[in-house]
Amino acid sequence: MLTVAIIGAGPAGLVSAKEAKAHGLNPTVFEKGSTVGGLWKPGGFT
Ligand SMILES: Cc1cc2nc3c(=O)[nH]c(=O)nc-3n(C[C@H](O)[C@H](O)[C@H](O)COP(=O)(O)OP(=O)(O)OC[C@H]3O[C@@H](n4cnc5c(N)ncnc54)[C@H](O)[C@@H]3O)c2cc1C
Repeated sequence: MLTVAIIGAGPAGLVSAKEAKAHGLNPTVFEKGSTVGGLWKPGGFT
């Protein structure tokens, strides 16, 4: 299975990971922050 790197676990990165899996790829997501969601954080901005 081909492994792909996705930089950033914001909305674009999370969707990219989902679609990569749906197409038979093995995504690894690298996120510099402490949570997923990027600017669109779960629970909103605090
Ligand atoms: C104040 C504000 C309010 C908003 N409100 C809404 C709303 O109500 N509804 C809505 O639909 N949209 C809203 N948006 C827009 C929405 O947040 C963005 O369109 C969306 O987050 C963009 O997603 P993205 O994945 O492209 O980028 P981001 O969300 O910016 O995600 C990028 C991720 O990559 C990570 N990253 C960056 N560089 C690296 C690196 N070198 N290595 C590892 N990780 C890295 C970052 O930490 C981040 O988690 C709002 C935006 C702002 C600024």
